Amino acid sequence: MIKLDPANVTRQATEYLNEMMNVIKRNYQVERITPSPAMNPFTGRRVAELFESGGTLDETLLDTLLTGTFSDMTSRYMDLQDYIQTCRLVYYSSFKIHYELDKLRLPKTQRERERFRERYATRYASSWFDQIKAAHPNYMQNDEYFDAFIDAVEANLNTLNEGIGRIVNYSMLPDELRHSIMNRMGVEVCPYCNRQYITHYHDGIKFKTTADLDHFYPKSVFMLLSLSLFNFVPSCHICNSRCKLAKGVEILYPYDRGYMDDALFKYVLTPGGSIDSIVGGNTDFDIEMEISGTGASHRMMQNGVDMFKLEKLYRSHKECVREILYKKQAYSKLHQDDLQDLLELMGLEQLTQHEMNLFQYGYTLDPENFSKRPLSKLAYDVIRQILN
Ligand SMILES: [Zn+2]
Repeated sequence: MIKLDPANVTRQATEYLNEMMNVIKRNYQVERITPSPAMNPFTGRRVAELFESGGTLDETLLDTLLTGTFSDMTSRYMDLQDYIQTCRLVYYSSFKIHYELDKLRLPKTQRERERFRERYATRYASSWFDQIKAAHPNYMQNDEYFDAFIDAVEANLNTLNEGIGRIVNYSMLPDELRHSIMNRMGVEVCPYCNRQYITHYHDGIKFKTTADLDHFYPKSVFMLLSLSLFNFVPSCHICNSRCKLAKGVEILYPYDRGYMDDALFKYVLTPGGSIDSIVGGNTDFDIEMEISGTGASHRMMQNGVDMFKLEKLYRSHKECVREILYKKQAYSKLHQDDLQDLLELMGLEQLTQHEMNLFQYGYTLDPENFSKRPLSKLAYDVIRQILN
């Protein structure tokens, strides 16, 4: 998982609003006067009221919904907070409790199972479903009761989303605008796997891209966020398909953070490995991922490794690692100094460390550039492992 620069999203806000604001406003106006308005079953109020303050359309709220961050939405608007919490409660609820307790290194006792379900419901608490929760007082006791509680919330959420879809719906995003957004996000490599290039081009008439526009929070559950710029993550087709398949798995949000020193690729000698393997003579080593730390971010990182099958897929990149090990051995500090001397003799500028890294390894080894070149996080980790 590679961190993406949120500034690339913010930069597009004005143009995006110009394109989308009027579409939403029109939908809202139609919904406002319809004789059979959609209702929010959690609150008993009209769905259109989600977009209002003081009885009229709140354009600032709409602006935040379309171009603000999730924390902007939840900190400024109570309804948006309730909505997102409710969606999260439903979306993440398909966990396997024994697996989750394993990840937390907790015993699989009845008490721990109950505590886990209680903590889960507290974490995504919202006054919207207090009544439903009260009607399921034993929801924490077993999977059956827990599922019945979630199903009741989900039934309401589905009705609500149907109503929201009349006003905010991904199908309202014009194809050309979608390509244009991805083109301007400056993401050149899939942030989830850091393996596949994302290619943008102009075919003489309009922008095209080879990438998928992933919804970090899937539009099928988080309908209200289906047109939110900060919910769009350009990704490769394979990763986007995996995201869609994996219902309810919490992973890092790439606009917040990516894998850093707490999620490392490592090469580990296999039993047949030798000194030759360390200096790039052969590929008698394995590539593993080491996730350190504890708590929520540790769990989300491990989930990402599992969801995108990173450890398994990266085993096919041994040749890349062998080449790095070889280059590290072949180009010593002496060679670097010779190169700098040569440049000086020729009256040319000295190379910066990033340029030297690019020259030596083919990577700048700057975390800021991880989203520019495939396998750059792998290269970064392996070289640091050699230096340590
Ligand atoms: Zn990918």
